[in-house]
Amino acid sequence: LDFCKRIPKVELHAHLNGSISEETIKKLAMKKNPELYKDWRMSVDKGKVGTIDNVFQIFKLIHQISDNTEAIYTIAYDVIHEFSADNVKYLELRSTPRDAPSMGMTKISYIEAILKAIEDCHKEKLDIVVKLLLAIDRRNDLSIAKETVDLAERYSKLSGGTVVGVDLSGDPSVGDARTLVPVLRDAKCRGLKLALHLAEVPAVDETEEMLKIIPDRIGHGTCLHPDAGGSQGLVDTVLQHRIPLELCLTSNMTCETVSHVDNHHFKYWYDQGLPCAICTDDKGVFSTSLSEEYCLVAETFGLTRNDIWTLSYNSIDLIFAEEAVKQDLRSKWNSVKSYEL
Ligand code: 5GP
Repeated sequence: LDFCKRIPKVELHAHLNGSISEETIKKLAMKKNPELYKDWRMSVDKGKVGTIDNVFQIFKLIHQISDNTEAIYTIAYDVIHEFSADNVKYLELRSTPRDAPSMGMTKISYIEAILKAIEDCHKEKLDIVVKLLLAIDRRNDLSIAKETVDLAERYSKLSGGTVVGVDLSGDPSVGDARTLVPVLRDAKCRGLKLALHLAEVPAVDETEEMLKIIPDRIGHGTCLHPDAGGSQGLVDTVLQHRIPLELCLTSNMTCETVSHVDNHHFKYWYDQGLPCAICTDDKGVFSTSLSEEYCLVAETFGLTRNDIWTLSYNSIDLIFAEEAVKQDLRSKWNSVKSYEL
């Protein structure tokens, strides 16, 4: 674990509200309603989270706490510091803009609170580059999804490139993502990057249709392979277009979408040479860190230090920021390589 903690890392799949740490939840719940902290504590105790349905209940609880812009700022600020303390040098956060009229929170103030936290961490000279994706919930109708894409485009300009794209997430057992295809295609045409949660649960027809968009990255992709309820056609498309996967082992284990860590699809795709990024998903909900995720991959699949280093280094290719940022990160990695390996 020490080695995985020490090496520089890239985090590409982190939902803001799922990444909230216990300290931050406690701090915010104490201000609002201490019972919420107790409820959270009981829900996320390691091993107790259970199925994917329970996880989505936990998000509802967290959203009760993060229903104002001050809380959103605090969460973003703390989460960035926590990733930085874990030696994450480049972080892509994603979050679903929410409003809470009774608390004076609009989608705009929500986004601006996150951007302010990113800017403040930058001013503190924290050694981490942070970008933001705006998330569309798969339950959203076309007009809400379009509003999110409009906001992403607008804030990508206003933020000087901090907002880089759009994510599609939300409870995979609800709704049909195919209805959102026109909006996602439009986002791509507008130059926004697309990271889509796909095949978290078996859904061949839906996934086939979504893959036609050729997303820039796929979140999870747990059930692409025929053995996991997918199809050879899905596997072929992903390989043909070399669409990178964002893989979150603890999340998949906890949600029970993968039966045992030894069976995690990392191994299949890694052996195929598909670009894969190791990620946390929701480090607060799943009580994990990016270092622990790297360590789990190494221990489960017998990867050497060199393999782990390469996995981390190659993740730089998959970031949504421009080439100059990639170059900076590569030199950062190269400057410590000789004494880490
Ligand atoms: P937020 O967008 O509020 O910052 O982060 C929490 C939200 O991220 C959840 O309500 C859900 O929409 C999404 N999310 C977090 N983890 C997962 C996951 O593992 N799968 C999917 N599909 N969505 C997730």
